[in-house]
Amino acid sequence: MDSLWDFPDFDAHELVHFVTDQTSGLRAVIAVHSTHLGPGAGGTRFWHYARTGDAIADVLRLSRGMSYKNAMAGLPLGGGKAVILADEGRTKTPELFAAFGRAVDGLGGRYVTAEDVGINVADMVAISQQTKFVAGLPVAEGAVGGDPGPHTSYGVFLGVKAAVKQALGKDSLSGLHIALQGAGSVAGGLARRAAQEGARLSIADIDAARTRKLADEVGGTVVAVDAIMTLEADVLSPNALGAILNEQSIAALNVPIVAGGANNQLATRADGDRVQARGILYAPDYVINAGGIINVSTEYVGDGDEDKVRERVERIPGRLEQIWAESVATGVNPAEVADAMARKLIGRD
Ligand code: NAD
Repeated sequence: MDSLWDFPDFDAHELVHFVTDQTSGLRAVIAVHSTHLGPGAGGTRFWHYARTGDAIADVLRLSRGMSYKNAMAGLPLGGGKAVILADEGRTKTPELFAAFGRAVDGLGGRYVTAEDVGINVADMVAISQQTKFVAGLPVAEGAVGGDPGPHTSYGVFLGVKAAVKQALGKDSLSGLHIALQGAGSVAGGLARRAAQEGARLSIADIDAARTRKLADEVGGTVVAVDAIMTLEADVLSPNALGAILNEQSIAALNVPIVAGGANNQLATRADGDRVQARGILYAPDYVINAGGIINVSTEYVGDGDEDKVRERVERIPGRLEQIWAESVATGVNPAEVADAMARKLIGRD
């Protein structure tokens, strides 16, 4: 590969900033894909990459994904992302995060950072001592912001209901069987709301104690981790891992609907077509799981309270319905429809 411009995921990114700080040993890449709708916002990932090129590909792909996600959530934010290239031992030092904070600050607000894989609250606090361009910090009880999980799961719950209406013509989850992959923050919130509406739940998580606890709480059934993807149910709701929908797994699905909060569920673009070819309704992940970013954005931008957050999350089903309607009309799969809508919103294509 000759240059950055030749990376397959390079998509006219507005800015790609390479950071080296010799004192702390920091190596990071910050990418801003689009600021068309507002500052490029997206989390910082702390990860050990086998090759530097993998880090660059990741930050290019993820920052574009944030542009799409923020646009489809109706937020006044563009898309950005950062990766800190961790050493093999994933060594963290205060100096490293201070240097990263200074780098974010140096971009003057074109990039706004938040937590992502490998970064915890303490790391974010360290970064925020160097820059105000940080979202998603711990907040006082009752204030807007804080843990995005409950907002994400509320949006996923509403999205699952919209999918049930679209594919099965039903207004309620009562009596429906939902297969949940994951028993964590998002899955837990979804399970509680769905159980309250009378849904029957099957739950699988690699953490056996967590699975048991959630199943007991919602009167659900524990299912083996390797059985959940092929379970016969009304909805498969992936709320754990990415890239779970591939050629093999799609062929073995036993549900009319896939709708869940996990990021990047489709292993490749072609898998969107495969799901559609099986007659399965898919809820594009970054649209259905936008509740958390809506909450973070409302806190950062300061343009609303808890009621406003709820109101914005409640627009998720409408967006999904719009996507499915266009998908039915054009024959293009919902994931591609969502991407095309997002690109229009950010003034591309
Ligand atoms: P979490 O860590 O609370 O829960 C994830 C659960 O998945 C864990 O209990 C883990 O044990 C389980 N898991 C891991 N590998 C598994 C496997 N092979 N099979 C079954 N279970 C497995 O995380 P979360 O916050 O609930 O997030 C879940 C998904 O939703 C992730 O993909 C995340 O990126 C996405 N997401 C979360 C938010 C949010 O606000 N929390 C927002 C957008 C997207």
